[in-house]
Amino acid sequence: MIKLYLFDIEGTTTDIRFVHTVLFPYSRTQLPEFVRNHHHEETIAAAVSDVQATVLKEEGRTVDLDGAIAKLLQWIDEDRKHGALKEIQGHIWDLGYSRNDFQGHVYDDVAPSFLRILDSGATVGIYSSGSVHAQKLIFGFSTAGDLTPLIAHYFDTKIGGKRERTSYTNIATATHLSPGEIRFFSDIPQELEAARSAGMSVTHVVRPGTQASDFPSIADFTGLPTR
Ligand SMILES: [Mg+2]
Repeated sequence: MIKLYLFDIEGTTTDIRFVHTVLFPYSRTQLPEFVRNHHHEETIAAAVSDVQATVLKEEGRTVDLDGAIAKLLQWIDEDRKHGALKEIQGHIWDLGYSRNDFQGHVYDDVAPSFLRILDSGATVGIYSSGSVHAQKLIFGFSTAGDLTPLIAHYFDTKIGGKRERTSYTNIATATHLSPGEIRFFSDIPQELEAARSAGMSVTHVVRPGTQASDFPSIADFTGLPTR
C-alpha cells in the first residue's frame, strides 16, 4: 500500500525547460537594477563583496559595483554555480514570483492527481535538486495556483544526492515510512534505480522529449493514484 507519492520536479511535474526559458532569462534581465537598488542591504552587500573577492583572487583586479554586476551577468551566461550568484538570483526570483511576473510551471495533470492522491488517503512529497525554498515558490505560485496545501513533504539535496540509494532510505526514515510504502516518480532512470535499490516502487515519467527506459512508465499523471 503506497502511503507517499514522491515526485521529482524538472521533467516530471514541470517542463524541464522552465528553468532555462523562464527563470534564468528573468534573473539576467532583472539583475543589474536589482543589485543597484538593494546593494545596501546586508545579504546583497555580502554577495557583492563575495563577487569582488572572487574576481580579486582569480583575476588580480578590484571591481566596483558595476564591475561586480558585469561579472554576475557573465557567470549567468557561463552557468557558473557561484554562491553569490545563487543568493542574488534567489532574491530576484522571490520578488518575481510575488509580483506575478511569472509563475512556476506545472503540467495540467499535476494538481488533479495530487487531489486524487489525497482523496485516496495517501500524501504527496517532492524531492528535487532545487532548494526546498525554490520548490515552495514553484508550487506556491504555480500555473495551477497555490499547490503547497496539497504537499506534505519537501526534500532537496540536503538529504543526499538524487542518484544515491541512501538519500531514499533517508527520506523513508524522515517520513516514518518503510521504503515499500513510497512510490517515486522521475524522468531520470538513474534516480529511479537508486530509489528502487532502497526498496521504493518507482515509475518513469516520460513527458514529451524524455527517452523511454525499461522502468514501468507513464506519460502523465491522469491515471494516478493506482494500486
Ligand atoms: Mg527531473
